[in-house]
Amino acid sequence: MNTKPHLIRILALIMLAAAVSAAAIGASPQTVRIGLTAFGGSNINISADSGLCVGKTGSSDNLLTAQPISIDLEAGSKGITIKFDNKSIDAGASLTITPSDPADTLRVTSENKLTRKYRKTLEINFNARSLRVINIVSLEDYLLGVLPAEMPNSYPAESLKAQAIAARTYALSNLRKHASKGFDLCDCTDCQAYIGVVAEKPNCAKAVRDTCGQVLMFDGKPASILYSNDCGGATRDYAELYPDCNTPYLCAVTEPDDIIHIIWQLAYRFTELEKKLRDAGIKEASGLKSMMVSKTGSTGWVLEIKITGENASTTITSSRLRKILGVSTLKSELFTIETLTSKELLIKGKGWGHGIGLCQVGAKALALPPHNLTYDKILAHYFPGTQISDCSTITTSETAMVPNGGNRRVSRSRPKKNKTPETPKKPFDVRLHVPESP
Ligand SMILES: [Zn+2]
Repeated sequence: MNTKPHLIRILALIMLAAAVSAAAIGASPQTVRIGLTAFGGSNINISADSGLCVGKTGSSDNLLTAQPISIDLEAGSKGITIKFDNKSIDAGASLTITPSDPADTLRVTSENKLTRKYRKTLEINFNARSLRVINIVSLEDYLLGVLPAEMPNSYPAESLKAQAIAARTYALSNLRKHASKGFDLCDCTDCQAYIGVVAEKPNCAKAVRDTCGQVLMFDGKPASILYSNDCGGATRDYAELYPDCNTPYLCAVTEPDDIIHIIWQLAYRFTELEKKLRDAGIKEASGLKSMMVSKTGSTGWVLEIKITGENASTTITSSRLRKILGVSTLKSELFTIETLTSKELLIKGKGWGHGIGLCQVGAKALALPPHNLTYDKILAHYFPGTQISDCSTITTSETAMVPNGGNRRVSRSRPKKNKTPETPKKPFDVRLHVPESP
């Protein structure tokens, strides 16, 4: 038996495998899987003007011989049923749907008649008598639907470009955040807001195109950045909340005095406040006598509050207070507390959001006269020490999700490790605009 042909074949296979592996490892992460949280019921309708190509996930064969314009999908007790033209077809546990014309979009309508349009591909997975809808889309197309949901289209072009790079960087550094649910990122503010094609706006789209592929890098990896609406004039140092983090670029930076920030105030009667604190389990607030700021960070952001009741006192974090009073009520943790009378106090604050990283209101002002900063200067202001790079240069270190359950390897920065990604211990990792509590 001549072994040479076998050896040559084996060597060829090894070389082919190495080439495929190298191509996968070297590739930039072009595709992301976005969980569409608004469509989690047991029934949805999907339609496309050009018709629908419907297949079982992982198979290139069409499940339907026709290419219907509209189908209903229903989650039964064992899997997904496709309904159209008075027919019912058992489709198993996972479907992949694309429009017949690749340039067309897919419309998804929920049980309560919410309709949104998405590009490219939808994967529908059976999940305990309900449907899980995932949009598999290129990173750049995803950003077209993110940017207008995260920053007004009317903002100056340079601030929109800075935001586009921030959103792209956030996506790359948080791939697989929802891996246990089969997607990379969700479509709400837990990750980044994304409502598909309907959200796309021309100025935002231009900013995405003008910065195509650009990401913020630190130490050879996409930076683990954050952004919020209004920092109140000075951003918050992330290390003051999490000293062991490796994110020196999330340091506190101050803004020029001429930038106008939101100011707000809240008046509370002690009795009202006592009830809220006690309802939250703070029994020391019984017979509330005072509540005052007891610790602040370098830029004035509050870290701790001292609460004194009739018989005891305690301290709580400012983020816990924000959670108790409501994140939309106590808009930020940059505030002072004034005791008005023995029965009333006043909380006076600035800004809106967690105040870490890029400040959107500040970025807008820095892009306008007299500052006239370009997007790279804006990003350097908020993320000192980072560099803008092309994401195709990213080398590999961790796996990211790809369609149909495969994996590709890409590099990403995760300085804040959560053992349970779905319920992180550090909520700043997951709330961009209105954080919960650290
Ligand atoms: Zn999420």
